[in-house]
Amino acid sequence: MSNGGARAEVVVDLDAIAANTAALRERVGRPLMAVVKADGYGHGMLPAARAALAGGADALGVAVIDEALGLREAGITAPVLAWLNAPGEDFAAALRAGVDVSVSAEWGLAEVVAAARETGSTARVHLTADTGLSREGATPGDWPALVAAAARAQTDGEVEVAGLWSHLAYADAPAHPTIAAQIRAFEEAVAIARAAGLTDARRHLANSAATIALPETWFDMVRPGVALYGLDPLGGDPAGYGLRPAMSVCARVVLTKRVPAGVGVSYGHTYHPERETTLALVPVGYGDGVPRAAGNRAPVLAAGAQRPIAGRVCMDQFVLDVGDDAIAPGDEVVLWGPGDGGEPTAQQWADAVDTIHYELVTRIGGRFRRRYVGSAGTAR
Ligand SMILES: *Cc1c(COP(=O)(O)O)cnc(C)c1O
Repeated sequence: MSNGGARAEVVVDLDAIAANTAALRERVGRPLMAVVKADGYGHGMLPAARAALAGGADALGVAVIDEALGLREAGITAPVLAWLNAPGEDFAAALRAGVDVSVSAEWGLAEVVAAARETGSTARVHLTADTGLSREGATPGDWPALVAAAARAQTDGEVEVAGLWSHLAYADAPAHPTIAAQIRAFEEAVAIARAAGLTDARRHLANSAATIALPETWFDMVRPGVALYGLDPLGGDPAGYGLRPAMSVCARVVLTKRVPAGVGVSYGHTYHPERETTLALVPVGYGDGVPRAAGNRAPVLAAGAQRPIAGRVCMDQFVLDVGDDAIAPGDEVVLWGPGDGGEPTAQQWADAVDTIHYELVTRIGGRFRRRYVGSAGTAR
């Protein structure tokens, strides 16, 4: 991907996001909520949302209300759910914008009911059950009271319970015994809600890994995030599921030099070339979201081959050792991308720095310029 001279670019393929969405939608054959939180996992929330909608997403999911309002301010009218809400949150703003909100506890329901009264609207609420992740959601002990309160508010016209949902702890290990236990707990929570009169709510449980590997978790809607961006949550080859990574991270070499064997490279001299060699300076660092842990570990495509970063990653830059291969200032290097042009993948980077690709794509940013290719979702 030629980057037209920019110092450092994150290139996002919108057609890949749309095609990935379409592939997942087709796989499940039911409504799909595209998760675009955290700036669309670093791909840009608005373009990612539009591309996912162009690919057939039925709704959008975000963590916080501010993200949902950003979607609305940009003119996106698809259903949006914001699920991570703090006490004192501006629920009235969410309701005015037609944003669905999630509730895990009775205090949250009370605040949403107050906002419904204030705005004279009916709040669309998704009740969250904690079925074993011990993160968001009401425990089995707290669930019946939350459901009863929600059913009363629904009878009063203050809320419409539009969803019942939970989240899995081990979806990326499809044979793990907690999955069956969480499905059972979810079904019990749904039964309690239905018995209380919440009969119209849509049930949703599946993240990306479950959307790919666990049909028994699909219920009425799936809620994938990372797979929309073409990354395999199971750590394998996304092409196996018809997915293509949408992000490529590239930069231009700013300086090259011939150095003798044994020089110390970068802070702390943690790298010494064994023979005379060419070093290339790449102008991105941990200030741009390139993990410092990538030093001497993560591979970069440069001068036709993948090479580990030589020495420490600095705040603004790092060094590559390209041996006797030809490289010049202005040449492009690729940190990660789809992997079919010889470049490493985000999965390779994740393995190298002992994290997950989610963290890498979400944190890359800083002084990288973002550029979009493809047209999905841009015809407006
Ligand atoms: C982030 C998130 C998702 C999407 O997870 P992926 O693993 O990226 O598919 C779905 N549901 C909830 C509640 C989330 O927080």
